[in-house]
Amino acid sequence: MRTIGVIAGERVVIGVVEGNRLTGEIRRSQPAPDLPVEEYSEQLRREIAEVGAGGDIEAIGVGVPGIVREGIIEEAPNVHRLKGLNLGAALSAAFPSITILILNDADAVAVGIAATRNELGKIIRVWTLGTGIGFGRSPRLDGVWEAGHSIVTLDPKERFCGCGGVGHLEGILGHRAMRRRFMDLEPDEIFEQAKAGDERCRNFANLWHRALAAATASSIHLSGPGKFYLTGPNAKFVETPLLEVFLQEMVKMSPLQGSYFEVIPTPDEIAVIGAGVNAAGA
Ligand SMILES: [Zn+2]
Repeated sequence: MRTIGVIAGERVVIGVVEGNRLTGEIRRSQPAPDLPVEEYSEQLRREIAEVGAGGDIEAIGVGVPGIVREGIIEEAPNVHRLKGLNLGAALSAAFPSITILILNDADAVAVGIAATRNELGKIIRVWTLGTGIGFGRSPRLDGVWEAGHSIVTLDPKERFCGCGGVGHLEGILGHRAMRRRFMDLEPDEIFEQAKAGDERCRNFANLWHRALAAATASSIHLSGPGKFYLTGPNAKFVETPLLEVFLQEMVKMSPLQGSYFEVIPTPDEIAVIGAGVNAAGA
């Protein structure tokens, strides 16, 4: 089955997927930041048509950073212009005989990881750590799944989340949130100074790991234990042993123990494969 996988946010990445792998090069573009959403959608349609030319396409999967319901991007806190876009309808009109699936980009990453590691039959979960915090699951389930906005603290001063909510995971882990918290340091410098023993930075690095452990523990208490992949540009800050210690403090019931973490890089190719594989199953 030949499908097209797309990741569409501030950047657009498109590839043809067949048998759980890419065939040929992927195509990257960066729509102008001030491009109106209708023109963004039109550019996407044109690029998909160009990448898909030269063979039959059975399905198109598009991963986007936000809440998606029935093809409509209902919310996209970190890429505001996409909010309200009915991308499913736009692409169905352009490609009437092709199955279209619009999904959360973290779900695309999760399925891409599973497809490229021969884990499609297993349940895996993924945290994507970047500007925002994504949560993906393979196999994908319909629903909201905005676990990046899990409540991990009741401190009313914790209000750095991109969505404006108080006490959210992304308000502690998100790249933009870290820059707002430390006006004088970049995230790289915070974690460097934490390693060097600076007390303020070390305390924050501990809070950062504790918050990620807390959101993971909430997922375990709702859906059971299992494997959690950590990826995205800021997964480089993860100290896995520290995260495991905090998680063990938070999950005590014996049937819920046995989860583990793995930090892995997920280049664009992985998410594109995941979007295409998801669309094939839609
Ligand atoms: Zn939030």
